[in-house]
Amino acid sequence: MKEIGHWINGKHVSGTSGRFADVFNPAIGEVQARVALASKAELDAATADAARAQVKWGATNPQRRARVIMKFVDLLNRDMDKLAEALSSEHGKTIPDAKGDIQRGLEVMEFCIGAPHLLKGEFTDSAGPGIDMYSMRQPIGVAAGITPFNFPAMIPMWKMGPAIACGNAFVLKPSERAPTVPLMLAELMQEAGLPDGVLQVVNGDKEAVDAILDNPEIAGVGFVGSTPIAEYIYGRGCSNGKRVQCFGGAKNHMIIMPDADLDQAADALIGAGYGAAGERCMAISVAVPVGEETADRLIEKLVPRIEKLKVGPYTAGNDVDYGPVVTAAAKANILKLVESGVAQGAKLVVDGRDFKLQGYENGFFVGPHLFDHVTTDMDIYRKEIFGPVLSTVRAKSYEEALGYAMDHEYGNGIAIFTRDGDTARDFAARINVGMIGINVPIPVPLAYHTFGGWKKSSFGDLNQHGPDAFRFYTRTKTITARWPSGIKEGASLNFKQMD
Ligand code: NAD
Repeated sequence: MKEIGHWINGKHVSGTSGRFADVFNPAIGEVQARVALASKAELDAATADAARAQVKWGATNPQRRARVIMKFVDLLNRDMDKLAEALSSEHGKTIPDAKGDIQRGLEVMEFCIGAPHLLKGEFTDSAGPGIDMYSMRQPIGVAAGITPFNFPAMIPMWKMGPAIACGNAFVLKPSERAPTVPLMLAELMQEAGLPDGVLQVVNGDKEAVDAILDNPEIAGVGFVGSTPIAEYIYGRGCSNGKRVQCFGGAKNHMIIMPDADLDQAADALIGAGYGAAGERCMAISVAVPVGEETADRLIEKLVPRIEKLKVGPYTAGNDVDYGPVVTAAAKANILKLVESGVAQGAKLVVDGRDFKLQGYENGFFVGPHLFDHVTTDMDIYRKEIFGPVLSTVRAKSYEEALGYAMDHEYGNGIAIFTRDGDTARDFAARINVGMIGINVPIPVPLAYHTFGGWKKSSFGDLNQHGPDAFRFYTRTKTITARWPSGIKEGASLNFKQMD
């Protein structure tokens, strides 16, 4: 059985805790490797080495640091096929989707090449007589990232890129369900010239996470995953005096106005609802057509499109629209929620419960589902399903549709499909959600903007990537300096004012 360890001080090392987790190939439902789960002692030792490596890295000029990242981007492009294959075999997503995962991480790394510019401080000449005032951005020291299974390349890069470009050392604790690609990224960072110890990849579960949260040498923690864990990490990390940002779950709505191009809206719902088997935090899981006629026409357009979806293993190539979900437990949870929808009175218009794929009977495949007449008290509406299940909640008016999304506890992403500029503008201004699409179904901001939800989808003040990431991974210091020192003012006990 293949054994996956850690990446410490520039080398693959085996775990010493004696604890392991199974890593599956979800398409065939078989264990393909086991991954070591680090103990607190292993995590603490890796962090101590990272802290030592950070001293020199933090003092390396930003242009040199940026060159390492520039080289890394080249290497990512070189190894794109290899990385995508490894990613799909553990996650299950199709190869084009895996390449999208890598590409969206790569774009953040490209943004980080701008570190010398992004890290420039501010300067005020002659703030007072002979006095200059300036600020500088300094690395926070050692930062840690705890990442989810669903973007095994993109999210580790969203965290490690800015952290390392800012001069920090970085301890990455990837998802134990998809650990291979983060280790491959670490190898490429070394090949690009990153000094050993600046990036440590420590695999593990709750024990490693708790060790991160309690380790006094770790100054900042970035988390992405489900909301209950995000809340836990935010609370424990903050109470230990760390800078923490946590991004949680989602229930993204799409409002379809009566004037929308319904073919465009239906196509968008297919991609955003069923792509990656619905395992995206920016997936659309709730369609809210406004008006009975819009709803009837939308359902009519969705059904044949859903029935045409091809579900299969990534090895089947471009013929497959989406692959299996990540584990048997994830599949069981999705099907349980589907049953609850039926029991609570929603109409299951497309029923994927009996889906079977010949030759892959043990794979974690879930057929596509479409619910109509979902109400806001149902579990399928309230909970994140994270599977290929789209719920339709019919609204009588725009205000009612807006109200549903406003009242939902999650606020990651949302979309509106309309041809009316006034409605779109009003929607963008009033909605309490972090990322908004206007006739765009998955409004994931590009690398030079920032990514983050509102409400229970995000904990902390700053977003991921873009300029916010450079704020999160640095501390500002402001210096007031007086030259020449010959200016004599005499002693004063008054609070100083610059004149
Ligand atoms: P998860 O919360 O199960 O795991 C995320 C990380 O937390 C993993 O590294 C895992 O090892 C660790 N973890 C799990 N249980 C823990 C515990 N009890 N104590 C400490 N650490 C623990 O999430 P997942 O299933 O890997 O990912 C899917 C979730 O992530 C979904 O809810 C999805 O919406 C969310 N997500 C959010 C965003 C975003 O930016 N908002 C992006 C991607 C995914």
